Order: sequence, then structure tokens, then C-alpha cells
Amino acid sequence: MEMLVTILFFIFGAIVGSFLNVVALRYNTGMTLAGRSACFSCGKRLGATELVPILSYLFLRGRCSQCKSSISLQYPLVELTTGLLFVLVSWYQSQSLVILAYYLIISCILVVITVYDIRHLIIPDGLVYTFITLGLLRLLYETPITSLLHKPEIWNLLAGPIIFLPFWALWYFSKGTWMGFGDAKLAWGIGWTLGLVYGASAIILGFWIGAVLSLLAIALAKMSSLPIFKKICRYLSIPNLHFKSAVPFAPYLIIGMFVALFAQVDLLGLGLIIFS
Ligand SMILES: [Zn+2]
Repeated sequence: MEMLVTILFFIFGAIVGSFLNVVALRYNTGMTLAGRSACFSCGKRLGATELVPILSYLFLRGRCSQCKSSISLQYPLVELTTGLLFVLVSWYQSQSLVILAYYLIISCILVVITVYDIRHLIIPDGLVYTFITLGLLRLLYETPITSLLHKPEIWNLLAGPIIFLPFWALWYFSKGTWMGFGDAKLAWGIGWTLGLVYGASAIILGFWIGAVLSLLAIALAKMSSLPIFKKICRYLSIPNLHFKSAVPFAPYLIIGMFVALFAQVDLLGLGLIIFS
């Protein structure tokens, strides 16, 4: 039974993920969400069998069935990631339907922010403010306002601004070259989503993951000039791998947030200090 629930959450997440792909591509473009998806090269409308999350990409071997131009790896990756996130959320939160819905919705918002930040190096205000607001609403829903304003719970309320401040300082004093203001707003949202204990860990994890992946990207950039590497990319139909000097930071923060949330990572031992 638990296995069945897990599979259903994965399928549900993968279907939502294919919708999030469309949202991420059409957000702020003036395009509506109505209308069937079509191939970007030849404009062929996708049939029902070409719209199955993850599987269609595998069966089509990453190419349009008509013009054979390659389909972005973004599609199956987002579908797979959203499916996995929904499964993890369902494992993490099975007590309250409201809180379960909350985590599913913020997962969707964060997936779209990730894709958008990778594509445009910008975090859309509408999405990040929704994320922050939902975080506050959940805090108020889970903790009565009377205890939220007292120790130790007040640390969860202060977590937003506390985690926001260093990011804001980095943005302000570097005039936006080290950190975007969007990242600072995202950090505020992470503070209210996780509270101070796990929020602080999420940020540290984000920086670590960012450092490791940046090193990997540098290594990949060096490798991608090798002929064997180009051959592999062509075989897997991964289109023009290029590595930009400006890197989006939101994805690292978001990965750090989910690791801290699902694994309940408390790197600084703040839980003992604040809540005991
Ligand atoms: Zn096509």
C-alpha cells in the first residue's frame, strides 16, 4: 500500500513537472498557459503519446518525431525532479493535508525558480514573494501567534530576516556582482520555510554544493573540448554544452534547502542551543 502511494505521488509529480516546464518557459513572456505544446523547430503539435512525462523523451531518444531536432534535456529532468520531490514530500509530511499541500506547492514554485534562474539568471519576483508569503502563512498556521512572538519560536519568525541580511549585504556592497537581490529574497523565504536551525544549515549546504558543482563545471568545461566528450554528447543528443561565467545561485540554495529539510540537517547544532 505504501509502495502504491509512493508510485502515485511520483506519477502525479512527473505530470505536474511537465506542466511546470511549460510554466517556466512561458513565464513573463506574455504567452498564456493555454494551447498544446509544439516542437520549437518545426512547430509540429505534440500528440498524446509524445506528452507522457519522462517516457516520451526516452522513446523519442530526445528528438522531435518529425524534424529530428533535439529536445531540451530540461523536459525529462524537470519531470523526474518534480516526481522525486513529490515522493520525498509525501514521506516527510503525512500528518496534515494542509501542510502536505503547502510543501507540494512550494516544491513547484522552487522548481520553476530553478529553471528560470538557470535560463535567465533572474528570480521572478512574483514567484519568490509567493514563496515567502506561503512560508509565513505556514508559520502562523503551525504556531499560535502568542508563542510565535516568544522564545524559542520567535527564532523561526526571525529566521527570514536573519538569513536574508548577509545575502543582502553581499548584494549591496558588491553592487550585485557577487550575489543578486533575488537570491537574498529567496534566502528570506528559506528562513521562513525551515526556521533558523535548518535554514542556517540549508544556506551552508547551498554554498558547499555550489562550490563542488562549480568545480565540476570547470572540469567539464575543460573536458568538453575533448573529441571523445563531443562524441558522447552527440550520441546522447545533448545540445551545445556551454558553461557561462555568471552562474545562477538559486539552484544551489534550493538543493541545500531540500537536503536540510528532508534529512533534518543541523550543521551548527543550533537546535540544542535554541530549543533546549
Ligand atoms: Zn520538430
